Amino acid sequence: MEVLYVAHTYADVWDLDVIFPGGSESSEFRNHLDELKKMNVTFSAKIKKFETPKKIEDANVVADLIEDAKNVMMNLRQAGAFVSCLEAQNMKDRKANVLRSEITTVSASFTTAFNAFQQKLAASAEDVWNALLEHNVLSELHFVLQEWRKKAKSRLSEQEEALIESLSIDGYHGWGQMYDTIVGSMNIPFELEGEKKNLSVGQANNLSSHSNPEVRKGIFKTLEGAWEEKEELFAKTLNHLGGFRLNVYEKRGWDHVLKEPLEYNRMQQETLDAMWNAITKHKQTFVKYLDRKAKLLGKEKLDWYDLDAPLTSSSTTMSFNDGAQFILKHFAKFGPKMASFSKKAFENAWIEAEDRPGKRPGGFCTTFPLSEQSRIFMTYSGSMSNVATLAHELGHAFHSYTLRPMHPLNRNYAMNVAETASTFAEMVVADAAVKEATTEQEKLSLLEEKLQRSVALFMNIHSRFLFETRFYEERKNGIVPASRLNEIMSDAQREAYAGALNEVHPRFWASKLHFYITGVPFYNFPYTFGYLFSMSIYAKALEEGTGYEEKYMALLRDTAIMPVEELAMKHLGEDITKEVFWEKGIKLSMEDVEEFLQLTN
Ligand SMILES: [Zn+2]
Repeated sequence: MEVLYVAHTYADVWDLDVIFPGGSESSEFRNHLDELKKMNVTFSAKIKKFETPKKIEDANVVADLIEDAKNVMMNLRQAGAFVSCLEAQNMKDRKANVLRSEITTVSASFTTAFNAFQQKLAASAEDVWNALLEHNVLSELHFVLQEWRKKAKSRLSEQEEALIESLSIDGYHGWGQMYDTIVGSMNIPFELEGEKKNLSVGQANNLSSHSNPEVRKGIFKTLEGAWEEKEELFAKTLNHLGGFRLNVYEKRGWDHVLKEPLEYNRMQQETLDAMWNAITKHKQTFVKYLDRKAKLLGKEKLDWYDLDAPLTSSSTTMSFNDGAQFILKHFAKFGPKMASFSKKAFENAWIEAEDRPGKRPGGFCTTFPLSEQSRIFMTYSGSMSNVATLAHELGHAFHSYTLRPMHPLNRNYAMNVAETASTFAEMVVADAAVKEATTEQEKLSLLEEKLQRSVALFMNIHSRFLFETRFYEERKNGIVPASRLNEIMSDAQREAYAGALNEVHPRFWASKLHFYITGVPFYNFPYTFGYLFSMSIYAKALEEGTGYEEKYMALLRDTAIMPVEELAMKHLGEDITKEVFWEKGIKLSMEDVEEFLQLTN
């Protein structure tokens, strides 16, 4: 793809004006919001009048309501995406915050109506339901409709569920917000390079990869002390969150805490077990890497605060333009479509990457469904890890692009497959960077970045999963005190890191936001799933070359309309309920360990 090398200067500031001109003062956006509110009111009124279908002819009424719901959803997403972009590009844009709360209100009201719609639909008799599914106006939505029905059937009555929903605002979500409030109020006093500072928790966490071992150890001890000081508050919060969940599960007659997260991720228990078993089987290879790292740091064994320690400092930097060219060049080796799509994203200023103050930290990709465009947000300062992040976000945008021909209700993929395209894209670039590294130091630093990631996903996430599973078991019998939570966590970490660690991080359960997210429980294993799933796709792509792209895109298109077991069978010909499948991805990462061991011999 020589054409990609043509000199071109890409803008590193995005163009939002083509979507709605004028930022948070946009009158076009104002009109859009007003229109959206009207659509939502009409939809809610129609749902109130809607009655459970009794005959096949009702299919047209259902299809019309779905069409209305789809329109509200698309307009809502368009609005949400715009405000996310406004908030991220300038954290002080107060007008954007006001717009955000308007959207939240519309969204909550829509969700209530939409849930009622699903409940009413689910109440229809079996034969009517089956006939509706086969009707030509609804057959395209077969999978999601079945999912709605299954979900509604395994829940309590419409009134009871509505009651749970309203009680959960203060009795459940409120505890999640309490966590944020406590963490937000924390100050971490720390002396860095002779200067006394008051750090936020986020700033303190950033020091975990500091090159000075004393700083790393010091901040770890200081943080652990800060979590300890408030551990009773965190323990209470965690116990109430868990208690609420278990109570709801019991009332619904669910006996398994993994039922909800597995259902949400459209996967089976067998698949999850196979994944963890395969990982556990190969942990010793990663222990070798951790042991070597300890040796390089002059230690017998690693302590928790050494895990993120840098071994070398990566020196390679790339301008935004060079980074863009690097990405396009390597994408082209895997697929012409991914490359040409990304080239358009650069040309049309879909990316906000400028390094300037006032921007939100982190990166994301969001899609404007009505404009059929995406936007990528990040802060690009020239490191190779910035290049990888940019590729990652382009992967998300490419996923949205492949889903364009699908019905909007068939585009709602779950968390475990959400990171497939992004991880794939990131892997293409990260691998290329290791191969093209000009010095041994550079190669080592890039390789280590990859390995840190594998260890995080195979070991750290595993410890979170073990902790959460065991916490729920004990919570069933009553409150689990902080001292016991520390024990469960320490044991989980020793086990998940297969004995590679000396000092562990007992209050990790207090420090990690993920345990307090109320939206979805077990906010951990889908990360590992997504990583390994895309690794095995990457392994196939390496075998098959550019010819693989069509198959890859077909897989992405199906990510929201079937369970993951079926997805893998249809597009990869793989049975993911078996360990062998997962081992293929793990082995790719084991090759990185081998290379690392050789380089550091
Ligand atoms: Zn991502």
